[in-house]
Amino acid sequence: MSGDGELAYEALIQFLYRAPVALIQLQKDGAIEILNPMASRLLMPLAPDGDMENFFHVLRRHAPDLPRLCADFSAPQGVICEGRRIGVETTHGHADGPAVLSLGLLKLDDNRLMAVLLDATHEVVREQRMLANAAQVDALTQLPNRAGTLALLRKMGARARAASGDHCALLLVNLDRFKRVNDTLGNAVGNQVIALVAERLRTTVRSGGRAAGGGLAVETPTHVGGDEFAVLLDGLPERAIVERIAGRLLERLGKPYRVGEQELALTFSLGMVVLGAGAQDADDLLRDAAIAMTVAKSQGGNRMVGFQQEMRDQALLRSGLEADLRTAIERAELFNVYQPVVGLMAHGRMDPGAGVEALVRWRHPVRGLVGPVEFIGVAESTGMIHAIGEQVLATACRDFVAWQRQLGAGAPRLLAVNLSRAQLTKTDLCDKVAAILAASGMPAAQLQLEITESLAAQGADIQQQLLGLKQLGVKLALDDFGTGYSSLSSLHLLPVDTVKIDRSFVSLAASSAHHKVLIEATVLVARSLGMTTVAEGIETVEQAEVAHAQGCDKGQGYLYSRPLESAALLQWLATQQAPAAG
Ligand code: C2E
Ligand code: MG
Ligand code: MG
Repeated sequence: MSGDGELAYEALIQFLYRAPVALIQLQKDGAIEILNPMASRLLMPLAPDGDMENFFHVLRRHAPDLPRLCADFSAPQGVICEGRRIGVETTHGHADGPAVLSLGLLKLDDNRLMAVLLDATHEVVREQRMLANAAQVDALTQLPNRAGTLALLRKMGARARAASGDHCALLLVNLDRFKRVNDTLGNAVGNQVIALVAERLRTTVRSGGRAAGGGLAVETPTHVGGDEFAVLLDGLPERAIVERIAGRLLERLGKPYRVGEQELALTFSLGMVVLGAGAQDADDLLRDAAIAMTVAKSQGGNRMVGFQQEMRDQALLRSGLEADLRTAIERAELFNVYQPVVGLMAHGRMDPGAGVEALVRWRHPVRGLVGPVEFIGVAESTGMIHAIGEQVLATACRDFVAWQRQLGAGAPRLLAVNLSRAQLTKTDLCDKVAAILAASGMPAAQLQLEITESLAAQGADIQQQLLGLKQLGVKLALDDFGTGYSSLSSLHLLPVDTVKIDRSFVSLAASSAHHKVLIEATVLVARSLGMTTVAEGIETVEQAEVAHAQGCDKGQGYLYSRPLESAALLQWLATQQAPAAG
């Protein structure tokens, strides 16, 4: 070892020796190999007979399950437990010895373990003092529950107002897709996961750092309920620290969890609120943090978002829409419009009867006409999308069959209807579609269901659902292609008949060579797979020319027509020249 290396090594040994935590190296049967002075100090009072040979033996009265826990841990190495609270009070006569220890166990290899012990007495006393009331503690995690969180927030808010220039904040953390854990692994595993997250949270938060004004900076974890946790930050010297702490929290919480044989990778969404100078209601704080957390989730999760006032306004707007949407169906405020999808032909000509796409609209009694972009999200998150989707499909099929009766060969030949994410995950979707086809007399081969690209790229269950729909004889289209995750190279994995190239590409195609090439490549790949292509959002003659030149089969856009109600659509069709034969 070089001189520098030796020095560093010596410094490390010195550090381990003096560290204010107990470090113990064990054999797998608990036999103690090495321990530092802090370890002797914490363990000695627990071994009244003075026998410190075996760690499990010393703790046998307080944590009898440790040998089992270690034996059951099958991975070659890793964290067996962390932040495990062990009560050691009253079993011996040392009045000022620790009452509660916090234990971490690490498997180093097949034969050796490392134990880390901390005196957690003060931490526990502090928690207990804060939570004099047992009704404020959650049984599963031993953390303050929702009522406890609110009580702590009230206290912090009151203090913050009186405050001395330091900062307080609330972080709300919610597990992403926790329902999936429960659904696939069972509620018992779900509960274990919650307990593990609580443990991780406890070992991640820090307390006791010096804060502004000489007070203590304290981070207090709580379990608000379900898969939702909070961390209260009190006494921070600067506001900017909040984000750093939140980042550290997300990083630590995102490390894998071990449940029995399984290793679970979980992600979290975090909302943060920094307490202002004015009076703040505890409920309001929790709600604001939840709003920011929901925004983090809606952006895909695994991220943190700071609360902003506009978010509350949007949430209010949304909840207003939500309430109204519930009655919109009964009051028949929702209706379909249809946008022509035309066949692209040489010399700027087009075939007007190629098809139509059904698009839902909401005639709101106060707001006026509301577009789907504004309410489909609300409908999805509240489950109303199922009723709405069924109504859109049933109405569209009825209208389509009526046009065929009325116009015969002059009627549109294909009906496109959009499906949302939530609809695709519902198991009875195929049955519902089949029932609607049967009831309306709609020919399955003339119905095209559209799914967005980001959806199609997901999971085996979605694939299964798509195959089920194909078996009904309907066609499938990949909507908004180019905006999502799937690339040209995975197009062959999807059972779709048509690719709809997103408007963002089409609108730039005339001016950007890059976008033109992307369209061309998409068309080539789609063709080689036997799929047709539609250029979405054609607004100018130039764009139509490019789309046709790049080989797109069909086009849709304001150049041909805006979405129209059924009667107006028939008028539009009547005024179009039928394409000249040949
Ligand atoms: P989409 O399926 O990609 O529908 C095309 C959207 O582009 C429509 O917007 C249409 O009005 C618009 N559009 C068509 N041509 C042009 C153009 O030349 N320029 C511009 N700027 N826009 C054009 P809309 O009706 O607002 O619908 C937006 C999205 O909402 C749809 O995108 C679809 O994903 C969803 N959506 C609409 N109706 C339904 C429905 O009944 N169910 C479900 N699940 N989603 C729907
Ligand atoms: Mg569509
Ligand atoms: Mg689209």
